[in-house]
Amino acid sequence: MLQYLVILLDDTNVAYCHADNPLKERNLIPLETLKKGILFGMKQNLMIQYVFPDYGTRDCGTRDHKLPKEYAEVIESIDNVKIYPTGCKPVTGIEDGNETDVEVANEVSEKVEAKNLVLRLPFGEMLKQKDEIAKLFASGVRINLCITDVEQFTDGQIEAYKQLLEDWNGVLLGLYKQGLSPQFNLLTDRMMLKEMHNCEAGVSNITLAPNGKFYLCPAFYYDERMQVFNQLNHHQPSSDRSVGDLEKGLDIPNPQLLRLDHAPLCRNCDAYQCRRCLWLNRKLTWDINTPSHQQCVMAHIERNASRALLNDIRKVGEFMPEIDIKEINYLDPFEVRKEF
Ligand code: SF4
Repeated sequence: MLQYLVILLDDTNVAYCHADNPLKERNLIPLETLKKGILFGMKQNLMIQYVFPDYGTRDCGTRDHKLPKEYAEVIESIDNVKIYPTGCKPVTGIEDGNETDVEVANEVSEKVEAKNLVLRLPFGEMLKQKDEIAKLFASGVRINLCITDVEQFTDGQIEAYKQLLEDWNGVLLGLYKQGLSPQFNLLTDRMMLKEMHNCEAGVSNITLAPNGKFYLCPAFYYDERMQVFNQLNHHQPSSDRSVGDLEKGLDIPNPQLLRLDHAPLCRNCDAYQCRRCLWLNRKLTWDINTPSHQQCVMAHIERNASRALLNDIRKVGEFMPEIDIKEINYLDPFEVRKEF
């Protein structure tokens, strides 16, 4: 069931997930489109998540760069979550912010304003900055580390990833022993989950772009704007990735293919923390409900490291007794499913 409406306030909105935003020219959402989007959200009882550009913000530029006052009023006309670039808390008249607001950084910084941080890094940078990242675990901020070059992950990097997570497990275990409850998506989420907790683009959330059209997620809008016609040598006649608009409503072709129960690999998987990124699926396998080897292997390395952390914490005392993460001997479920 749809629960969230993500509204991109400008083409230069901050990228907050696997896909970079290649759009560099400002294109603010028309005020009327914004109002219609909010009305759509209200009618469908959706929580609005605004994605901000790196202007329209405090600290990030001159006064001229701030969003016009009328935008701030419309933005705050409904309960919302703000997703914004680090150091650029939005100016909308409500300065205290919201516990669920999300700050997005492309490099490790010691100062985080929000209670939730998305840290976007390529795999190599993550390895290089592992100690700086580990320092964030004790900050009381929820850390969501998003690897921005999943498609380039190779089996030759598996041991390095395992070692990195093992090192971080040591840091997290020390914090648990001190009575803290660090939140780090790659390692602590799976310990708390009894079922899949994925991105659910197009299922629980939908994105409205400045052109008044809906997309499964911002990455599909970026692809359309960049006129991506082919991926993995597969061509399609148009770069159109929209799934409806504000005038006609949502129109998602074969919506069942987005759901977990129609994803043969994922529905039998217990890497519950996996993002299960549909955009990566489409980019790497040309099949929106078939995951790539890279995504599955990385998610299983995280799952197995979470299991190890859970077992280590339980040596100290009772912890999440209802959670059972079984030992498995594979990293890609495709290798053990024979019925395809
Ligand atoms: S690890 Fe692979 S099979 Fe499991 S949920 Fe993620 S994408 Fe799906």
